[in-house]
Amino acid sequence: MTDTKVFLLDGGSLVLDGYHVFWNRGPGGEVRFPVYSILIEHRDGRFLIDTGYDYDHVMKVLPFEKPIQSKEQTIPGALALLGLAPKDVGVVVNSHFHFDHVGGNKFFPHAKKICHRDEIAQAITPQPFEVLGYSDLSFSKQAADARNASQQLLAGTSADNSTFEGVTGDIELAKGVTLIFTPGHAIGHYSLLVEFSNRKPILFTIDASYTQKSLETLCQASFHVDPVQGVASMRRLKQLAEQHGAELMYSHDMENYKTYRTGTEFYG
Ligand SMILES: [Zn+2]
Repeated sequence: MTDTKVFLLDGGSLVLDGYHVFWNRGPGGEVRFPVYSILIEHRDGRFLIDTGYDYDHVMKVLPFEKPIQSKEQTIPGALALLGLAPKDVGVVVNSHFHFDHVGGNKFFPHAKKICHRDEIAQAITPQPFEVLGYSDLSFSKQAADARNASQQLLAGTSADNSTFEGVTGDIELAKGVTLIFTPGHAIGHYSLLVEFSNRKPILFTIDASYTQKSLETLCQASFHVDPVQGVASMRRLKQLAEQHGAELMYSHDMENYKTYRTGTEFYG
């Protein structure tokens, strides 16, 4: 049996105002934060959780987020550092469909796709305040057609295979790899718990908690569909981390990210 390994695929960085990162708390001012995807090598195959942002999409639709992304920080580039290509990944899971988590889906037409059942409908018909979050619909031709989005909003080409298996609640993808339902930031948001045989588990909050400070202060980002659910999800993550003795890792926390293993370094 091969032990589970987790690689973080560096996806570059973006900028938000501090009041968006820490809703109604701040302080304001530019905050540059990392974007990364999670590659799990498991005896049952390779699972990729999220696919980062598409540079051209951000420049077209959200240039104020000032993307910085090298070739190595694209999904194919980050996989190449590991001697892999998109075809080597069998399953792609999207934690939710915000643009900084789906931008590279188009590279995986062959892969099985999994998301929360409610995310596709929400991406097609978002709340008015969610439109920029759900602005990159290149992950699904059907979703893009359904939204009747203008060409301007769409970057790149849609994946050939954009059929998702919709799941609900907590779900074990493979032994020791569990999606944890943490709604609030998005209607069908998932966090991720990975268990190993030789080290403590890692609980990836993903966007339920952008940073360590967010979780400590129960201060979510200003992007959410239900902030009350968002706080409940944060409390649940704290509890789960304690219960499993898990190390917490955050999605958009530059200070912590600098200490994370990326590139060819891995957890496992
Ligand atoms: Zn995000």
